[in-house]
Amino acid sequence: MSEAPLLSVRGLNAWYGESHALHGVDLEVFEGETVTLLGRNGVGKTTTLRAIMGLIRKRTGEISFAGQDLMRMPLHRTAHAGLGYVPEERGIFATLTVDENLLLPPVVAPGGMSVEEIFDLFPNLKERRNSQGTKLSGGEQQMLAIARMLRTGVKMLLLDEPTEGLAPVIVQRIGDLLATLKKRGMTILLVEQNFRFASRIADRFYLMEHGKVVGGFPVGELSGRMEQLHEVLGV
Ligand code: ATP
Repeated sequence: MSEAPLLSVRGLNAWYGESHALHGVDLEVFEGETVTLLGRNGVGKTTTLRAIMGLIRKRTGEISFAGQDLMRMPLHRTAHAGLGYVPEERGIFATLTVDENLLLPPVVAPGGMSVEEIFDLFPNLKERRNSQGTKLSGGEQQMLAIARMLRTGVKMLLLDEPTEGLAPVIVQRIGDLLATLKKRGMTILLVEQNFRFASRIADRFYLMEHGKVVGGFPVGELSGRMEQLHEVLGV
């Protein structure tokens, strides 16, 4: 782990129109780490990812990524900076085939994976390479969305509930994939309700309440914090 965080967020506020959704989020993620944001529905986890990416323009605070000031960066350049966001609704081209989805990403930076490398990592996508996005299962769509980001050569993935609505066996596969990416050195910020799933890959957790981060702990403390988590998350 390097000394300066790869991603540093300080005092992040964000608004939807007049509605103040984030109230000073502080978090940092070091290179090679997987960090999971936990919190009840509506506390601002998705908004945090969207504000980091610049998808919410009404925001204040500081965001730096790999030494670059994301607050000053136009939206179209955030992805070029090396941050890949996979929203909960996945963001693939539904009417295009798997192959076409993989060929389309506009930026293939140094470090971006070739389609062959992607198919080595995702053999199930290779089997489905001529299928349209709409014909894929939820798990396959999730994998394709992640694969598209890997094509672009991102240094860090922001993943919003990648296991949402997926069957346990597919959740397991997504977990295997994220574990492989982590082993290869990928940095990941994960929003996930399923903290048992997250504990497999997360190095640390942050807890969010009312639009801010209210605490954090390393994965080793997870079992001792079950009671608190059940209370905070309402699970
Ligand atoms: P969930 O898991 O339900 O998505 P979350 O922690 O990700 O929860 P956000 O989606 O970030 O929460 O929502 C934070 C707050 O912002 C909530 O009060 C939500 O109602 C509000 N909000 C989210 N999206 C919008 C929007 N497009 N317009 C207005 N308010 C929004």
